[in-house]
Amino acid sequence: MVLVFAESPRGQFKKAAFEAVTFGKKVADQLGTYCAAIVLGAAQNAGDLGRYGASRVLQVSGDALNNIDSQVYAAVLAAAAKQLNASVVVLSHTSTGKTIAGRLAVRLDAGLVSGVNALPETGGGFKVKKSVFSGKAIAEYDITSAVKVISLMGNAVRPDASGSPVSVETLDIAAPAARVKVKSVKTQEGTVPLPEAEVVVSAGRGMKDPGNWGIVEDLAAALGATTACSRPVADSHWRPHHEHVGQTGIAIRPNLYIAIGISGAIQHLAGVNNSKTIVVINKDPEAPFFKAADYGVVGDLFEVVPQLTEAVKQFKAEH
Ligand SMILES: Cc1cc2nc3c(=O)[nH]c(=O)nc-3n(C[C@H](O)[C@H](O)[C@H](O)COP(=O)(O)OP(=O)(O)OC[C@H]3O[C@@H](n4cnc5c(N)ncnc54)[C@H](O)[C@@H]3O)c2cc1C
Repeated sequence: MVLVFAESPRGQFKKAAFEAVTFGKKVADQLGTYCAAIVLGAAQNAGDLGRYGASRVLQVSGDALNNIDSQVYAAVLAAAAKQLNASVVVLSHTSTGKTIAGRLAVRLDAGLVSGVNALPETGGGFKVKKSVFSGKAIAEYDITSAVKVISLMGNAVRPDASGSPVSVETLDIAAPAARVKVKSVKTQEGTVPLPEAEVVVSAGRGMKDPGNWGIVEDLAAALGATTACSRPVADSHWRPHHEHVGQTGIAIRPNLYIAIGISGAIQHLAGVNNSKTIVVINKDPEAPFFKAADYGVVGDLFEVVPQLTEAVKQFKAEH
């Protein structure tokens, strides 16, 4: 069977969980087996994971699981995978999934490939693909161990909720004592976190001054987008570090990425070039970003961005 860990931070499922279950169901179909989703700690409407293709939804409860602790989570997931005789374990390639995957693979004596972005080839083996070298190449891996662990890149599959909810079964696994004590958790409220954002409006050094960011925020608000920035912008404390995208920042794959006053250095592109549609606004027609763009506007961002915001608002008002 294929076991999918469905993350439920603060009791809520995010898109990553629905993608992982959709992917797990497809892998299970390929292997002629079933897909079960496992939930650790509190989770609202866990049975809804059935809509994404889980034939069973299993929940391990306990106070120890309400805070993410990768050592505890890996131990519980490994026990569940052994109990259920899972041949494939799927995690999301989120910060949580990344910290669990290695520990889990060791516990299961499993081969691990992280950041997989396509369904495996399962005819005579188990081959998975991921992009490497900052998206410049695709590597193919054959996982030969009996149990396979993979983490799924965000936005690699579209969640498919065409199934039906199932009842939630309790799985009786005792969580080991935590060796790390969580003292406090501070969350960012109000906006969709970058890794989950469908639309991202990002700006760079071309903005000249942090005081000019109002036009970026206005465009983001009009589009319902999350804001991001290039590294020098975060390094100069113009914008908070959690907005920094790229090779050394967050890697994102939104449906729409609008880059304003960003040159398109390779290290920036590494984190954003898997976006579905890229729009670049830059006054320099030679800016490298235009090579990666689906749509480009050569112009002064201080003129173009407010006009774009107005056009979006007008379009929304008329539709
Ligand atoms: C090891 C390493 C890791 C790195 N990791 C990252 C990373 O993760 N993310 C990242 O972003 N960078 C990263 N960098 C830095 C990267 O190489 C670039 O220096 C950086 O991305 C440039 O940021 P920028 O495009 O905002 O600024 P600039 O390169 O200064 O570009 C500003 C752009 O704005 C345009 N512009 C200026 N004025 C206007 C205007 N009025 N209207 C329209 N356009 C205008 C200019 O034409 C220019 O193209 C890394 C570098 C190294 C060495």
